[in-house]
Amino acid sequence: MISCSDLHGFRGLFLDFIGDPFDDFEANCTRFFADGLLVVESGKIKDFGEYRILKKQYPELEITAYPNQLMIPGLIDLHVHYPQTEMVAAYGEQLLEWLNKYTFPTEARFKHQAHAQIMADFFLDELLRHGTTTALVLTTVFPESVDAFFEAADRRHLRMIAGKVMMDRNAPKELLDTASTSYEQSHQLIQKWHDYHRLAYAVTPRFAITSTPEQLVLAGRLLQEYPGIYLQTHLSENLKEIQLTLELFPNNSDYLSIYEQFGLVQSRSVFAHGIHLSDGEFNRLSAAQSTIAFCPTSNLFLGSGLFKLHTSQSLNPSIAVGLGTDIGAGTSFSILQTIGEAYKVTHLQGQAFSGLQGLFLATLGGARALQLDDKIGNFQIGKEADFVVLDLQATPLLSLRTRQALEEKTLEAIADSLFALTMLGDDRMVQATYIMGKPALFATDLGSG
Ligand SMILES: [Zn+2]
Repeated sequence: MISCSDLHGFRGLFLDFIGDPFDDFEANCTRFFADGLLVVESGKIKDFGEYRILKKQYPELEITAYPNQLMIPGLIDLHVHYPQTEMVAAYGEQLLEWLNKYTFPTEARFKHQAHAQIMADFFLDELLRHGTTTALVLTTVFPESVDAFFEAADRRHLRMIAGKVMMDRNAPKELLDTASTSYEQSHQLIQKWHDYHRLAYAVTPRFAITSTPEQLVLAGRLLQEYPGIYLQTHLSENLKEIQLTLELFPNNSDYLSIYEQFGLVQSRSVFAHGIHLSDGEFNRLSAAQSTIAFCPTSNLFLGSGLFKLHTSQSLNPSIAVGLGTDIGAGTSFSILQTIGEAYKVTHLQGQAFSGLQGLFLATLGGARALQLDDKIGNFQIGKEADFVVLDLQATPLLSLRTRQALEEKTLEAIADSLFALTMLGDDRMVQATYIMGKPALFATDLGSG
């Protein structure tokens, strides 16, 4: 008999992944329980399986029941800018004009820590309201904005990765650091925050246009000095951006080679977009085992282009891909909606992309890309209990659409409902978000809202 002192159970429908549905039949990669039981102890998954079988081992277990709700692992956003929250959906420009007109003035306000704290709280509330429990986050050039973000994430016990933007040219003067100050500040932030509780650090040159070669040399040095940290940046998003990049680095034959030259292309590197990559660049990303963050709402909004997901998956090894909302060029915090837009982007290129493949990218796929699949990504025993409760009847239309699936409760029917959720879904579908087995904390819970 197992003592139930620190144990808590969750009962309902569960869906997660144990394999990659881009490599194998979906049924082989997916785990579905129409009546499942998740047992959590001290924030980690203690047991997981069919209620009818597992319950016998835990006769006194206190259980929270979600009989008609679908529980999935916490969603992972692989590319998002927290300071751009208040300028989301700014009208009418492509990347470079959009940065100058909207983004840089907004980011300039983050040198004030009080402003950064308010926005970090708002941003994390939005993530949690949409079921996102882990994200790879860009801040601004100001270290205060990094501290504000990590402090807010830590108060909520979140598993988050972030870094100070490095930017020493081609931006307004008040937003520029220098190669040496960016190195020193990043160095201090890594020592303060990397591997602190559930937090990790990502070296964050914005993109090649806003960094001198000297700054990129030092970004590479940080990666060498701290092998456990990440790199995040942008790559090959927009045609004018690529043209300007190659003018600034005239000795390089393509965009990726610039990052390669400075030692930034490695297995813990996450490149946002990669829309206009050549076959050669795709092959080199595959060989380096780097990751691409596919950000469809952003790519459509800025008119950047269509990411070739099928090409990234056809390579050997396939390139690790995760989904990014890319707020504020992206138009929704919802990873469900992002899956829906990813479907449209692939569909426009004559390719298939199922709701289950989308959910894989947003859970186990994203966790693998971040090399965090020993901690998050599915309901495997021993992992951290970050998960989301989806209400399949959250709106009248959704209720109508999923009624039959909830009667059948088969994987096929639920997968069909999940796809509908990616088309119709938003924060209303997220009934609850759990962090380490406890209801997620919002700014109001922490007295900072
Ligand atoms: Zn971005």
